[in-house]
Amino acid sequence: MNNDEFRKLGHQFIDWVADYRANLRDLPVMSPAKPGDIRGKFPKSPPPQGGDLREVFADLDTAVLPGITHWNHPGFFAYFPSNTSYASILADLVASGLGAQGMSWQTSPAATEVEEVVMDWLRQMLGLSEAFTGVIHDTASTATLCALICAREKASNFGQTRNGLQGGASKLVVYASDQSHSSIEKAALLAGFGKANLRLIETDKDHALRVEPLLLAIQEDIAMGKRPCALVACIGTTATTAIDPLKRMAELAEKYRLWLHVDAAMAGSAMILPECRWLWEGVEAADSIVLNPHKWLGTGFDLSAYYAKDPQHLIRVMGTNPSYLRTAHDEEVKNFRDWGVPLGRRFRSLKLWFLLLDQGVEGLQNRLRRDLANAGWLKDQVDKAGDWERLAPVPLQTLCIRHVPDRFMPQARKDEALLRAHNLAIAETVNRSGRAYLTPSVLKGKQMIRVSIGAEGTERKDVEALWSQLQDVAEKV
Ligand SMILES: *Cc1c(COP(=O)(O)O)cnc(C)c1O
Repeated sequence: MNNDEFRKLGHQFIDWVADYRANLRDLPVMSPAKPGDIRGKFPKSPPPQGGDLREVFADLDTAVLPGITHWNHPGFFAYFPSNTSYASILADLVASGLGAQGMSWQTSPAATEVEEVVMDWLRQMLGLSEAFTGVIHDTASTATLCALICAREKASNFGQTRNGLQGGASKLVVYASDQSHSSIEKAALLAGFGKANLRLIETDKDHALRVEPLLLAIQEDIAMGKRPCALVACIGTTATTAIDPLKRMAELAEKYRLWLHVDAAMAGSAMILPECRWLWEGVEAADSIVLNPHKWLGTGFDLSAYYAKDPQHLIRVMGTNPSYLRTAHDEEVKNFRDWGVPLGRRFRSLKLWFLLLDQGVEGLQNRLRRDLANAGWLKDQVDKAGDWERLAPVPLQTLCIRHVPDRFMPQARKDEALLRAHNLAIAETVNRSGRAYLTPSVLKGKQMIRVSIGAEGTERKDVEALWSQLQDVAEKV
């Protein structure tokens, strides 16, 4: 492909994406594909000769689109919103077009400095103090792994430079709630703490961590000669967006010298709304915070924001400094390769910059407020309807509900197996209809239907349509 062909074809690809977005409403939200369907449409071996890339349009339509679950569909209520705004699509195009590596300042000074600028803008938007410095990771999972490794190295006084995991006198322990995301356990295991030294603390009726058992666990571990090392507070758990009592956890973290990591991967975006910030009161005491603008905020995947209190510690833990990477400016600049696991780095900050230029802080705030109001509306409908129940509070945009049809099925209220089958059937029927997509899930043994509101295109009428579909289906299945 030469430059002229690229220019021509590039316009056609933008048109293809724009057509896709324009027609989203007509596509089934959840991909109907069965395992192997898509693979079967591809030749067994790679094309020996190059040809005309224009042929790909037909294949995109027939082989790829049927295998796409449309996360930006207005009827997408599953998992979490993963909004890829138009502005961030264009930013990704520019990042790929530039093809720049941002591993060191010198390898593309703009990649480092734009990241510094937008991470500072985002810090201000979240109401965080200047005590925090930001860096972009691919995902919250990676960021949390970095946090727990930093915690380990702080507690062990840089044990990695001596005998590493094998060298310490006492075992290091990590604490999080039993509702914490699977990435916490994964990070604790990958960072070498061992499953026996990860304590998942029980949660209260609202699914938030209970401080009393946390304190008991810490004291018990100390009595056994272990060393409490890190505490993960979840602001917005995965199942229910439960909010851990951060302020009280911060007090314990300070008292027992624990690294305090705040996992606000989903809910962090809401902190651009001053009225939501009470949800993470105490956050200034954190050693590290992660939130995912690639979820609700609108910067297409991937862009995870990590804020560290002590970047020097991070650099000492993550830094590499072989001679071929050293440059004349190293004393004056940030080399983000030393702020995380990968050496090579994409120019991700363009996505956040473009998004902010396009929508501004107020535009983003308005959209998130719209989603909170839509969730509040649905919560009111559920609470008013006699035969639906809510299994969790709704601090943000996620509802955990189920249909308890005691009108025509009086035994159901007592029979969890019956309720499970009934609610699974509702969710499956809705999902297979193609009009909406939501997540059936089990919360502490109870089957629920999880409704996560916040796709960029989801308006009140879409939530109303979902609610009437849920009620219809619940009567029929
Ligand atoms: C989504 C989520 C994660 C994981 O995010 P990735 O960026 O996909 O790794 C972790 N914690 C919480 C609370 C989440 O909502």
